[in-house]
Order: sequence, then structure tokens, then C-alpha cells
Amino acid sequence: MEKPDVSSKPTGSIRRIFRSNWGRLTILIVAVAAVFAAYQAVTILFISDTVELANDNGEVNGVLVDGMKNGSFHNDDIFKGPSGKALHVGNYTAPPGEIIAFTKGRAPTVLSDSQSETVPFWTPATDTKKFRFEDEYVIGVHFWIITGPFEQQRKRALLAYSKTLYIWSKERQGIRLDGFHIEDRTTDQDADIILLRSRENPPTLQCEDVGVLVANGRYVPNTINIYYGAKVVADDRRKDDRPVIGPQYGAKCSDYTDLPGVFILMGDNTNRGLLAHELGHALGLYHIDSFSDTANPPQPYFNQKNVMHSASSKTRNSLTEGQTFRAVVQDGSALNKIYNARLDPLIKRRCNDEVGPDPTDPHGCPPVDTRIWVDH
Ligand SMILES: [Zn+2]
Repeated sequence: MEKPDVSSKPTGSIRRIFRSNWGRLTILIVAVAAVFAAYQAVTILFISDTVELANDNGEVNGVLVDGMKNGSFHNDDIFKGPSGKALHVGNYTAPPGEIIAFTKGRAPTVLSDSQSETVPFWTPATDTKKFRFEDEYVIGVHFWIITGPFEQQRKRALLAYSKTLYIWSKERQGIRLDGFHIEDRTTDQDADIILLRSRENPPTLQCEDVGVLVANGRYVPNTINIYYGAKVVADDRRKDDRPVIGPQYGAKCSDYTDLPGVFILMGDNTNRGLLAHELGHALGLYHIDSFSDTANPPQPYFNQKNVMHSASSKTRNSLTEGQTFRAVVQDGSALNKIYNARLDPLIKRRCNDEVGPDPTDPHGCPPVDTRIWVDH
């Protein structure tokens, strides 16, 4: 059978067909557009993505969510909900996507499209994001009492240790200290240590002494070593660059030895909140006192309740989610650098130390002042 020769048709007939169907075509286009608009409206109104968190601890969960929603990029939207129930987060429609989850007794945990780019993180349809909290990390720290009286120093160290456990648990830090390991080295007679104790009256510990302490065996590798002396030269200097020295100060010493470990010095009149502050430095956190808004007069983003406030106060008690996230996730945190607790490079970050979102990276860290729960 001979096929009709379509190619021989004059082009004029196609134009005629198109012209005669113009009205119908217009109606069709309008109808399709209307259906699409209605679908979008329905999508925005009724479709809700869900976040399902496994391995929680029976406590309230909170998440920070990134994604495209209603045509714009949303960064760190906050949602909270009870354990065991999916969180409804509204309809995110496109990447970049990320969820950071927080709860008591577990580590802040990230699910990000930078971890797996095989499927879009968010779509216009209903998305269900399931992931598992990282377990709480348990780290050992070692207390060395260099200058006595031992019993007083032991009590001081124990109170500081307990206060740290309390703050980390309540603030969902996701890191726990294991047992209270302490050594009485107040009567040691090594020549170096005697020299160190007799140098001043009362004896003063400074970061330069870390080498001597380590060389004389007051050192547990790959651990945070905490030395209690009498007076301590703080790791900060005054504005006029004079050193800060006293029994109420502590110091986190960096780069005084090549050996793997973190070294913290504590004076014999330190308040119990100071150790959490120095451990915060060890976990890669910095002072937050200078951050304030642009109001007149400027309102600070943090008060002295924050653990990383530099004022030597007794009120240190809270951490923001921006801070607990950094302490776990940053590659410079002792958790990753000393304890090697989290080996997957995809789940580590290098965070800026800012209160605003990182403009260079949609998957930057949540700003330092990010709070899901208010300070208390
Ligand atoms: Zn400090």
C-alpha cells in the first residue's frame, strides 16, 4: 500500500489548520495554566513534607530546615515536636536542602543534600525525610591536681565536672563526660614540678608549663588534660595586652606541644561554670560577648548566662543550638581532632564565627546565635 505523501502538502494548509484551531488552542493553554496554578495553590496549602527522626531519646525534638518554599530560599526554619511523631514542616519544593536535628541525649545531627545528591532533597510533592540521630558522644577527661590542698581542689574539680554534665545535658550538646578521673599529684617531688610549684608564691601555672607537665608524665594522650594549680595566667590578655593572672582564672592552651591532646589550666578559686567555658574553647567555640544588633543602643545577642561569655561570672548556664552544632560538627573541635569520634568527612564542617548566615555557602553552619529553645 502506498503511503500518502505528507511532505508534498502545501505549507499553507498547516497554517490554515493552526488558524482554525487557534481558539481551541488558546482555551487549552489557559486551562493547562489554570490547572497548574490550582495544583500549585493546593500544593502550598495542603502538601506538607515530614521529617521522621529515629533513635531519639523520648524527649522533644527540634529541627532547623533549609529549602525552597513559596519561591524563596528558607534558611534554618524552626520546627519542634514530641518524640515518636513525624514533624510536619510545610511544603519545601526544591533544593538546596538540609535538616539539622537536636534533642536531649543525642548529638546534633545533619541530613544534607551535600551528603547524597542522587535524588533532589525536596520536590513539589510530599517529601518524607527520615534519618537517625547520632548517638551521644562520650569522652574522657583527666584531672591532675598539681597544687593542693588536694581535698579542696578535688571538690572544686568535681563541682566543675558536674556543672559541665548538667549544662551539656540540658542544652542538648550531645557530648557527655565519662567517669571522674582525678589524680592527686600534690606531693610529687620531680625536680621540674617542684620548680614549677616554687616559682612564685602562690604558684602560678601558665600555658608555657604544658611542655614540662607532659614531659614529666602528667599527660594522657588523645584526651583533654585538666590541671588544677593555685594561680593561672589566663589565655586572654587585657586590652592593654597585660596578662590576666589570678586564682579565679582558667586557660585553654593551644600549640604548646606537638603531642595529641588538649590542655586546660584551672586556678584554685575558679567558679564551677568556668570548666564548661574552657571545654567550649576545646570544642572550637569562641567568645560571643561582642555580638550585638544594630539598634540604638545596640542590644547584645548574648548575656552572661551564655557559657562562652568571657566575663568571669557565676551565671554561665546556656548554649545556643548554633554553638552545640559547632562543638560537634566542626573539624577543629576536640571531638573530631583529639577523640576522632566522627570519622565521616561529609558530616564535618568548618563554620564561620558569625551571628548572620554564611553568605558564601547555603549549607553553611547555622549562625552562632541560632536558638530553637530559649536560654534559661
Ligand atoms: Zn574564654
